[in-house]
Amino acid sequence: MAMADRLPGDAADPRSAAMPGRRPESAAVPGSEGTRPAASGAALTAAELAALAAADFDPADDDRDLDPEGPPEGGADGFAATLPEEERAAFWAGLNEVAETRAGEPSPELLGSGCTPSGRGTGFAAGGALDRMPPGAELAWHAEAFWDRGLDQLSDDELVGLLGGWRRLASRATAAEAACISELGRRRAAQAEARNPGRRAGMGPLVSEVAAALTLSGVAAGRLVMLAEALARLRPVAVALAAGRIDERRAAVFADELDCVPDIVTASAIAAAMIGDAGRMTAPRLRQALRRMVLSVAPEAAARRREQAARQARVECYPEASGNAVLAGRELPPEEAAAADQRVDRLAQWLKDHGAERPLAELRAQVYLCLLTGGDPAGLLPGADGPAAAAAPAPAGPAPAGPASGLRGCVTVTIPLSTWLGRDLAPGEIGGFGAADGSACRELAARLAADRRNRWCVTITGAAGQAVGHACARAGPGPPGTPGGTDAWLSRLTVNWFERGGCSHRRERPGYRIAPALAHLIKIRHRTCCFPGCRRAARRCDLDHTIPYHSGGRSCECNLAPLCRTHHQCKQEPGWRLRQPEPGRMIWTTPSGRRYTADPEPYPA
Ligand SMILES: [Zn+2]
Ligand SMILES: [Zn+2]
Ligand SMILES: [Zn+2]
Repeated sequence: MAMADRLPGDAADPRSAAMPGRRPESAAVPGSEGTRPAASGAALTAAELAALAAADFDPADDDRDLDPEGPPEGGADGFAATLPEEERAAFWAGLNEVAETRAGEPSPELLGSGCTPSGRGTGFAAGGALDRMPPGAELAWHAEAFWDRGLDQLSDDELVGLLGGWRRLASRATAAEAACISELGRRRAAQAEARNPGRRAGMGPLVSEVAAALTLSGVAAGRLVMLAEALARLRPVAVALAAGRIDERRAAVFADELDCVPDIVTASAIAAAMIGDAGRMTAPRLRQALRRMVLSVAPEAAARRREQAARQARVECYPEASGNAVLAGRELPPEEAAAADQRVDRLAQWLKDHGAERPLAELRAQVYLCLLTGGDPAGLLPGADGPAAAAAPAPAGPAPAGPASGLRGCVTVTIPLSTWLGRDLAPGEIGGFGAADGSACRELAARLAADRRNRWCVTITGAAGQAVGHACARAGPGPPGTPGGTDAWLSRLTVNWFERGGCSHRRERPGYRIAPALAHLIKIRHRTCCFPGCRRAARRCDLDHTIPYHSGGRSCECNLAPLCRTHHQCKQEPGWRLRQPEPGRMIWTTPSGRRYTADPEPYPA
């Protein structure tokens, strides 16, 4: 890597390196050629570990190598104007020095506005000053200028150089973002400590604050906070990211793979040993190399990670982008997962051998679903009418009990208000399956309608997809073609219209307890936890009195909303506040004093 020995970030005074135009001291990068033990998966000896740790790591040293000055306004001129006299001269000298590092190359700032960069050897061409410039305000200024002038003005070589420049800037932006999150976390931890010495605050409130601020889901914000924590812990990774030598993906790989190594010295030593090569590795290769090294240096940590993850074993079901669905078991015992996989394979192969014509992958998927719904895979053979047309290989173990197939329970159908008024059943969503296209919905609805024991919930949605009314029915419309059809069925339903704007409190009940019918309506109005961006299904949430009952809050739809455990906890943390100024509209205030309004998650209607 040509720029490995030029980039700042590992220099003694990182601030000087981050200053635009100032030439970084050519400090020896810890882990640069010669001093680094063979990385790429080779095991480190204890002595090497100690040496690495001593060379590049000081746990007391907080990561403070990011430039806090902010971007200059008005390019290099504007930035220079903000500098004290003596620093201004150094700034221009440094800028020129960067520009002159390649003989015969025009100084970058000579390419003023209106001047078209052309030919080889200008800034972003291979080996040019800008091609090698570390990310920061100056690179950003030049990259902006080149973009502004028109990418069509650039040679291929320069275009690729500019692409790399933006990638380095993105890396730096990620490092700066993580530093902001770290700082916010440090403040919140200090506040919690001051209130409650010795009590370790959970990550929930910090993740929620970040999620609200950046409009992220809880999962995405959680990943970001984890990355920030990891970068604060793994200094070599933070430095490499801030210097644009690795990108966010690879930083996240370091964070993931070293998360299981609790000893900060060992984790940092592994990071230091790998960071030099990480710039030349793709993320998957880096992951492999890191995993090998963790296994050889800290095998017990890797085993612990597997055990911990096993406690999060689960089955996930969610819609695919295509409108189909995912059904997957996660964090399963590997030997049992392999055995199950082989059985699916055997059954699919058996179908193939007995005349099934579909590709094996598709047959596998059919077998998988068939086994889970309690069917007999033999029924999947062409011409087979239902189960057991031929004898499929007997499953090892007891046969599954319960109904042979079918869907049971509550059927949730969503109908746009306009469609409702037109009396035309066109479901936009079937509960639990997310948005589905019309035909999938209708097919599902038909299967559900066929069973009279299913309970029906019909939600009527307004123009923006918000629930405006809801009806529950004991019996469905019956299978398609039933006399009277859906029109008659719909017209018999009693619709509960939600309170909008103000509240008449007509559904309020005395006491703290919430009547099941009201609880059901609240969870229809709010399908998810009422924190902005939280996707936790309302049925897995508590119904919370926005103003506590003991403080005079009503048990009414104007004072109730679902809250997941994390956000219930947030609401109770000092500095947090939740209001419901009108039924269903929630206003959150975070400890920073910022306010976020969250309306109920709309239905895709
Ligand atoms: Zn209902
Ligand atoms: Zn009310
Ligand atoms: Zn939540």
